[in-house]
Amino acid sequence: MLTKDRAICVRAVDYSETSQIVTFFARLSGKISAIAKGSKRPKSAFDGPIEVLSFGDIVFSDAAKEKLATLTEYQQRSLRGGLRKNLFALDSALFATELLNRLTHDYDPHLVLFDQFIQFLEDLDGEATTVRRGDILVRLILFQLALLREVGLRPVLKACANCKRPFSSEWRECYFSSSANGLTCRDCEMSFPDRVRVGVRAAHCLANLRQIAEVQENTLDEIEAVLVYHFTETLGHRPKMAKHVQKRLR
Ligand SMILES: [Zn+2]
Repeated sequence: MLTKDRAICVRAVDYSETSQIVTFFARLSGKISAIAKGSKRPKSAFDGPIEVLSFGDIVFSDAAKEKLATLTEYQQRSLRGGLRKNLFALDSALFATELLNRLTHDYDPHLVLFDQFIQFLEDLDGEATTVRRGDILVRLILFQLALLREVGLRPVLKACANCKRPFSSEWRECYFSSSANGLTCRDCEMSFPDRVRVGVRAAHCLANLRQIAEVQENTLDEIEAVLVYHFTETLGHRPKMAKHVQKRLR
């Protein structure tokens, strides 16, 4: 049976001299892995080798969902025109792609996340040549939080994740614990040995995300460091692309 869908390539590895195994995040089907036979031949049915971050309409056959699907059609469009000119924007896009690939399951569709991911990439691609590093970080942080929300891991950011006391700017110390899945207050932090300290400004921004466009770049870097820690704990390993996006703090 052939399935048609709109998809974005989130992973591509060589399978043979001429073929690739590609992973797509598809709008209606969710994540699928497929063999693209002959994709590396000069004249392939897929407009040349399939690239990560390309997107378009796919047709694939999935005889049995446990097995690798076979890609039969893909008219790929490159999203990387602007991204090629801004390494930080490209690294941020690839980091988001890695996280999305790790946090979603095969054949588990996430329509809202798909649309947000396309929007995130188009924004980065369109603005890559003009936008500042801080603006890219804002987009990355908002996408990472959307990703957590859409896969059912929404962190608690407006209150202590443990005692539920609402966050306020009166808090003199603030922590984030991956095992508590959110901010933790000074009275609760001791119960969560995995917690990391969060600056009050960064915590304030996390609790009031509408203000994120106004915060300084070093606060954004601090928030990104918390998120990298959280993704590392959640996945059980540090995401590969994290080092290309993170600035060493202090
Ligand atoms: Zn608490």
